[in-house]
Amino acid sequence: MGLNRRHDMPGRGNGQGKRESAGASAPSRRAARRRPKPADFRVIVIGASAGGVEALSRVISPLSPNFPAAIFVVLHISPSGPSLLPHILSRAGRIAAVHARDGLEITPGRIYVAPPDHHLLIKPGHMVVAHGPRENNARPAIDPLFRTAARSYGPWVVGVVLSGGLDDGTMGLMDVKRFGGVALVQDPDNAMFPSMPSSAIENVQVDRVLPVDEIGPLLDRLVREPLPADQGALNMARHQADEPDIAEVGNDELKTKNLDGPPSKFTCPECGGALWELQNGKLLRYRCHIGHGYTAESLMAAQGQRLEEALWSALRALEETAGMRRRMAARARKGSWELIAHRYEEQAKQAELRAGLVRSVLVEKIPGQTPEEAADAIQKTAAQARDWSAGKARPRQKVKVPPGPPKPPDPDSNLMNLQPLTQSSNGNSGGSGSRAGKVLKRRGAAERGQNGKKSEAH
Ligand SMILES: [Zn+2]
Repeated sequence: MGLNRRHDMPGRGNGQGKRESAGASAPSRRAARRRPKPADFRVIVIGASAGGVEALSRVISPLSPNFPAAIFVVLHISPSGPSLLPHILSRAGRIAAVHARDGLEITPGRIYVAPPDHHLLIKPGHMVVAHGPRENNARPAIDPLFRTAARSYGPWVVGVVLSGGLDDGTMGLMDVKRFGGVALVQDPDNAMFPSMPSSAIENVQVDRVLPVDEIGPLLDRLVREPLPADQGALNMARHQADEPDIAEVGNDELKTKNLDGPPSKFTCPECGGALWELQNGKLLRYRCHIGHGYTAESLMAAQGQRLEEALWSALRALEETAGMRRRMAARARKGSWELIAHRYEEQAKQAELRAGLVRSVLVEKIPGQTPEEAADAIQKTAAQARDWSAGKARPRQKVKVPPGPPKPPDPDSNLMNLQPLTQSSNGNSGGSGSRAGKVLKRRGAAERGQNGKKSEAH
């Protein structure tokens, strides 16, 4: 059961602003039973990401003030800091926009905006604002809004996907169509960031693709048409509506053993858990047992982000290693333990060499080098490091240790026994034309120039 931090409700302050709930399903169902039956009007759900503020403003601005439907908006925004979107949308058009609040009754003629770091979910007659697992690396995410709207309002839902990167909203728009709703998508040629609309068009049988300035007038006409009379479709959708959504309470499939086959080979970038692969039409989806959900595109984006974090972490560890060994070398030299000081310095050099390689991958721009070439160079260098660590170390020299003050710890006894990379650059390094080879040779030459005979002696 996931953390279910709810957005505080109006008039229900508990002195702490947020409240924790380990399992909201029973209270949510009880609350739903107490609620009046939802009035009959359409629900418009709009999802946007990069370039979305301008697109949203242009969709909202032509809507008339007596708009007879409720509008829900998810824009990917930073989880911290205030969101000014309700203010921006209120000024852009003639309909009042507010942040959605947990439990608030849905009223037509209002725009409800997902607050930062919370999913906005739709139930029959009211909304839920929940701090459930991120989907597609986002919270608020578009898919949960569209999915829950489709389950609560079926054929009365109009889903709109606007400008944005990657593909959040595609899966949700599929749900909107599955339950009989209408799918509108901004023309990718007209979008500042076309990826999200393009993905929706590619994967969903959308009803209309149109320039952003034509979406508002179409919505204004559409909401004044009679509601679809397909009560069966509405009942089918609402059959699932009272069940808590995964974005509300997380995923408990591991506990209930209701797992959909064996897991994939991949792990969740957010929690490290196994990911299950799900095929929805042409769209590949992944979900972990905690409830984090990804499309293939968003999973790749998250993996890239984690890889970069790991490389920065490796760089920090290597630079700390070098710094610590330099410090120990200075202490050993003070005590006239020249051999030990020299070993520490050698290890510091190797750590610095590796740090330089990682840093060059992270920040250096080498014109003409492709990511594949960079990856190849890293793999070759890593293979060399593994070879050295696997026992191809140099034979130890027998040196007579002079008497002196208490002996510092032997650097070779350290578990992280750094092996030289400079030697590998003499022959079978990462290729003379490779980035790693160039870095190693450049650094090796610099070290030889600085240290002269001393480096060659060891
Ligand atoms: Zn996860």
